[in-house]
Amino acid sequence: MLGGRVIPPKLFVKGRYIGGADEVVGLHEQGKLKKLLEEIPSSGNIIANNVCTSCGNLRFLICSSCNGSRKVYEEKDGDHGHHHEFCIKKCNDCNENGLIKCPTCC
Ligand SMILES: [Zn+2]
Ligand SMILES: [Zn+2]
Repeated sequence: MLGGRVIPPKLFVKGRYIGGADEVVGLHEQGKLKKLLEEIPSSGNIIANNVCTSCGNLRFLICSSCNGSRKVYEEKDGDHGHHHEFCIKKCNDCNENGLIKCPTCC
């Protein structure tokens, strides 16, 4: 498939060369591969190339409480059995534009 050239797989962890296929299998059998991979921080909070993965450097996110509508619907506990009542309240979590500061980069 590669035109006759065989390229052995190589593994790098945090820019450090770990080894080819044989070394990786060896590490895996000794239970060391898992430990190496655990050293890598979870991708959730990585700010790659200085671009925030949560907001794309906008510094703001749409409020998750009201979805940017500035209104939250609160269910009232009424005495009406199956009848549900809702009241509309102003969202306290976001600014006047329905945005919150990005918690990842701000
Ligand atoms: Zn809100
Ligand atoms: Zn951000």
